[in-house]
Amino acid sequence: MTIRIYQDATAIITGAATGIGKALAIELANRGCTVVLTDRQITLAEETAAEIVANNGKAWARELDVSDYQTFQAVVDETVAETGRLDYMFNNAGISIGGFVDDYEVGDWNTMIDVNLRGVTNGVQACYRLMVAQGFGHIVNTASMAGLVPASSQIAYTTTKFAVSGLSQALRVEAEMKGVRVSAICPGAIDTPLLTGGVYGRLPEGVTQEKAARYWAKLKPMPAADFAAETLNQVAKNVPIIIIPGWWRGMYWVYRLSWKQWFKSSKKDLGRVMRLTQRK
Ligand code: NAD
Repeated sequence: MTIRIYQDATAIITGAATGIGKALAIELANRGCTVVLTDRQITLAEETAAEIVANNGKAWARELDVSDYQTFQAVVDETVAETGRLDYMFNNAGISIGGFVDDYEVGDWNTMIDVNLRGVTNGVQACYRLMVAQGFGHIVNTASMAGLVPASSQIAYTTTKFAVSGLSQALRVEAEMKGVRVSAICPGAIDTPLLTGGVYGRLPEGVTQEKAARYWAKLKPMPAADFAAETLNQVAKNVPIIIIPGWWRGMYWVYRLSWKQWFKSSKKDLGRVMRLTQRK
């Protein structure tokens, strides 16, 4: 058996109630994939699953906090019992607790790590052995541009996303030998609730949703549906590091070629964020 792209495949998506996860679920279903939408926001995930079914797709929703390994494993086992296979695991759930490090409490670090990093390691642990036994499968971890280029105004976020990008790149080598694919998605700015804090995240102190929206508007956030369609095209080609919108690749190259140049532009960006928070 081999991986299916995407007709008659099975996919689990975490953080599928809103934003990128929701858009991926709809696009996967449109391409003939059975989709299991998981999220803490179960009512929203159920609404999207119902919409998919109403449009002749195959989907259901399950409540899942990605930091809870036991439930994660149960969702994977149930999915495989139901469909006989697992082609895709999209470890997508993520949050952003903004703020400078001197404003941070230890609980903020722990929550960021629990969701953004432990959520991904739990997802890998819950599906990898099964995919190796199948001899196929694709783990798609949502990192960020901040997982490739440090974002000095989002230090905890950068910490977790570098870990996700490192995990994905390193695992790809071992996984390939066992017939399993691994990719890291590194979005630039995508138009989702995360940009204005999200339900489980927080903007830096002093930054209102309006200010945050204005800050991101300059970077022209991509609609989530367009992002999902382009992402799935690249996942189908087994691209290792998926950077969308494509113009953000330039930033990655600047960082790799000139640390000094990155440092200079990072300082400028940090200054902009400090002005937003009215901090010196
Ligand atoms: P979003 O806030 O719309 O979606 C995040 C989803 O994750 C929400 O539905 C939320 O309920 C869910 N979630 C949060 N904590 C959870 C938990 N503990 N368990 C299960 N689900 C949980 O934001 P989004 O932009 O769609 O984010 C999706 C992913 O993309 C995240 O990993 C985020 O870091 C990443 N990302 C987004 C952008 C962007 O510009 N929007 C850029 C880079 C990376």
